[in-house]
Amino acid sequence: MLIVIILTGIALVLGVLIYFVNKLVPHKVKGVEKTEEIAGILPGINCGACGHPGCFAYAQALTKNADLILKTPCTVVLQDTEGLERLEKALGVTLDASEMSRKALIHCNGNSEVIYNYSGVGTCKAAAQLLRGYKKCPYACLGLGDCVKVCPQGAISIKPENGVAVVDPEKCTGCGLCLAECSQNLIELVPAGTKIAFLCNYAPLRDIPGREKCDA
Ligand code: SF4
Ligand code: SF4
Ligand code: SF4
Repeated sequence: MLIVIILTGIALVLGVLIYFVNKLVPHKVKGVEKTEEIAGILPGINCGACGHPGCFAYAQALTKNADLILKTPCTVVLQDTEGLERLEKALGVTLDASEMSRKALIHCNGNSEVIYNYSGVGTCKAAAQLLRGYKKCPYACLGLGDCVKVCPQGAISIKPENGVAVVDPEKCTGCGLCLAECSQNLIELVPAGTKIAFLCNYAPLRDIPGREKCDA
């Protein structure tokens, strides 16, 4: 009799275990499949602009919370009509790419004259340490390309005629990685459709004696 009771107890415990395993495992498998589906749509360049260490980590976060894409979108996929459609379907959300897209803009398009020969480390960061750079305008783009080096799309170049950085809006995906690189704080993300922008950061209130705005 005791054996029958023990066996019945074991059978009951096993039954309960099997029930929960059946309930939980399919969810996990579905979650993994969804993450893989989303990761397959994301660009895979791991730029980190979405605030995650890479595309797969972002896909995992989107699997848990699809609305995250509205707060921290992958700006690269916003430029890809087909990818965007697939992502909308996978996440069950509607995204207005024209509203959400951003492009980098550099607030200097000047021709400030060079006031001393700089021969230090060839980065804007290093050059800016010395009297805010070697151009007469202390807010000028120093043209040593710190931003160029970090752009994953190759969207920034230095114009040879004035040694100032310029963004190609066709290539820029608005990832924002260049912003933190500019020691002159010249780069801003603006709505993709922006037609009019002020391309100068000169501020008389922050003027430095002996330094001047260029005539741009
Ligand atoms: S005045 Fe404006 S446009 Fe000219 S160099 Fe300075 S920041 Fe650039
Ligand atoms: S220009 Fe800046 S914002 Fe645009 S793609 Fe390059 S790094 Fe990203
Ligand atoms: S925009 Fe900023 S980081 Fe880029 S070249 Fe000019 S000063 Fe350097």
